Amino acid sequence: MLTKIWKVDPAAENLEENAAIREAAAYIRDGELIAFPTETVYGLGANALSDDAVKKIYEAKGRPSDNPLIVHISDFSQAERVARSIPGAAEKLMKAFWPGPLTVIVPAADAVAKTVTAGLKTVGLRMPQHPVARALISAADVPIAAPSANLSGKPSPTEASHVYEDMNGRIAGILDGGPAGVGVESTVVDTTQDLVTILRPGGVTREQLEAVLGKVASDPALKDKKAQPKAPGMKYRHYSPKAPVELVSGGLQELKQAVARAKETGLTVGVLTTTENANVFKNLADVISVAGTRADLATVAQGLFHALRRFDHYDLDIIFSETFPAEGIGEAIMNRLNKAAGSSKNDGME
Ligand code: AMP
Ligand code: MG
Repeated sequence: MLTKIWKVDPAAENLEENAAIREAAAYIRDGELIAFPTETVYGLGANALSDDAVKKIYEAKGRPSDNPLIVHISDFSQAERVARSIPGAAEKLMKAFWPGPLTVIVPAADAVAKTVTAGLKTVGLRMPQHPVARALISAADVPIAAPSANLSGKPSPTEASHVYEDMNGRIAGILDGGPAGVGVESTVVDTTQDLVTILRPGGVTREQLEAVLGKVASDPALKDKKAQPKAPGMKYRHYSPKAPVELVSGGLQELKQAVARAKETGLTVGVLTTTENANVFKNLADVISVAGTRADLATVAQGLFHALRRFDHYDLDIIFSETFPAEGIGEAIMNRLNKAAGSSKNDGME
């Protein structure tokens, strides 16, 4: 399949009338796959009301069929087509954080393709903020099911070139709207229980959720590696470069020692670091990948997947990574790094 690439300026006026977006929307309506930018990462979209279209997502990504997809909508009225009902807590969260990087799990309506929910009675709903994503959904006039537009197991794409690396020849087209903003995926919360529960940390922080709802719970599987995650996708290995990743806690000295020891044994070594610390590894590591600055962890979130993907352009034996405080956006960063380092109950790939 020839994969078309359209460049679209997210700041342009009247995006719904943009020729590229109209063409991409026509592909969605025809049951084909389109990759598009969101404010979190690039998504791989299909018509969420068509089982045949959604099946193609699983094929293109090599995604396990038990891992449900998030449905993206562009206005509140579309939620009624996708949700059987909207719990009160979900409504509060939608008002506070939509459009934005928050996915609410709600009871699913019958119209939603069975392949979207992977047989569950609930569905994940999100209204993205990115103007290209919103224009595509409006122009297609159907809710769009979309996971991240990477091959299963790989770091999520934050630039169109990442999507191209993984998906060229597998999908109808890529809307290139420049780099994604937040850099890590949406926060996934279950709103069908008494207490709203974080299933996946992401772009909206726990602190932000608690400011709206009071106390929120966490899926025990986020801490306890033996527990079964409530979000099926969280049980899989994910975000992994080809070389093994090892997280080094402690501090800069510990990381430096780990790199030095590996070099002494003759290994080719990558290091995932920050602007503050990169210089330390100059004559030590073979490949240095800078995610962002420790002074502002939002920049680390933004640059994390690009920094991880860069390692695959080299032939490395091992990658060592800095660690970050698991607070605010740091919770999502550490969740992704732990997964990249291969901590999962099972050897399958997302
Ligand atoms: P991705 O599409 O790669 O951003 O991942 C979406 C995440 O949301 C995965 O971990 C899914 O398992 C999870 N998810 C989607 N729908 C549901 C649902 N109905 N119930 C629980 N988790 C879900
Ligand atoms: Mg993903």
